[in-house]
Amino acid sequence: IYILAIESSCDDTAAAVLENNKVLSNIVARQSIHEEYGGVVPELASRAHQQNIVPVIDVALKKANIDKSQLSGIAFTQGPGLMGSLLVGTSFAKSMAIALNIPLMAIHHMHAHVLAHFIDEEGFDKPEFPFLAMTISGGHTQIIKVKSFFDMEIIGETTDDAVGEAFDKSAKILGLPYPGGPLIDKFAQEGNPKAFQFTKPKVDGLNFSFSGLKTQILYFVQKNLAQNPNFIEENKNDICASIQHTIIQILMDKLKLAVAETGINQIAIGGGVSANSGIRNTLKEAQTKYGWKTFVPKFEYTTDNAAMIGIVGYHKFLENQFNDASVVSKARIEF
Ligand code: ATP
Ligand code: FE
Repeated sequence: IYILAIESSCDDTAAAVLENNKVLSNIVARQSIHEEYGGVVPELASRAHQQNIVPVIDVALKKANIDKSQLSGIAFTQGPGLMGSLLVGTSFAKSMAIALNIPLMAIHHMHAHVLAHFIDEEGFDKPEFPFLAMTISGGHTQIIKVKSFFDMEIIGETTDDAVGEAFDKSAKILGLPYPGGPLIDKFAQEGNPKAFQFTKPKVDGLNFSFSGLKTQILYFVQKNLAQNPNFIEENKNDICASIQHTIIQILMDKLKLAVAETGINQIAIGGGVSANSGIRNTLKEAQTKYGWKTFVPKFEYTTDNAAMIGIVGYHKFLENQFNDASVVSKARIEF
């Protein structure tokens, strides 16, 4: 089975070709245009998708050495995401499926972040059902009980900012360019995580809150800058390490609670923030420390990519879960 997958939910135009559960090509065109605005500008994202989508799909097919006549089906991100961005991928996928007369599969972007673990990759184990997934990305922070490929239940989520936003907004306070998450990670690797203390929010149950941390960091930086105008430059690594450490502690506290409440100790992470080296190390350590079995995706399947859309498409294909041409993009979709 050959699946072409298209992802265009936010600011990356991505296409991948899968042969069953193996990735033959995985192409991402990043849109650098948003950097100068300090965040994604939806209208510019949509236009860039229109420019990128044909070449990106072309390269994905060429790199996979597959002709479009060989494709078995087309999977695309239906949502959630930016409407103008989603529409480009949806329209393209629909037209191509009609032209080739092959099945079309609409994919939930967050299911894809969870199920990316089922891509066949040497050195990466697949979780067994039921397992807990923690999706940590630019728009989501969720703990999900995954019972089967298409039966998932959100048991905890953020009540305000997503963890990726917490990284990006903290970075912005430190004067770092957008998206700042990867830069905090980079500087944190050289810093002392215990240099500065931030308090963790008190949120009941398995839910999260990150907006208070952002405000705390803002006041902390302002107060110190008033005394020393070079405070950020002189302490960049330590500040980043301390912020990252606090965020990781918040995530780990809730994971421990989720394991205690569900009795499930297989944990898989997904979403852009799972690229974070601190989180990756902490989860690997948790295997010996808590006896968990943890699953950390291959780096290229963490931030937005089409391979993860393709693996969900493949499993939908096996179950004959197809969509007709009346399917529409959705900025918000139920889980
Ligand atoms: P969603 O999946 O919720 O719709 P999204 O698609 O915009 O959101 P992703 O691409 O999955 O988000 O993740 C992007 C986020 O991941 C950004 O906030 C970015 O800063 C963060 N991120 C990426 N790499 C790292 C890293 N190494 N450390 C911390 N954060 C990171
Ligand atoms: Fe995403």
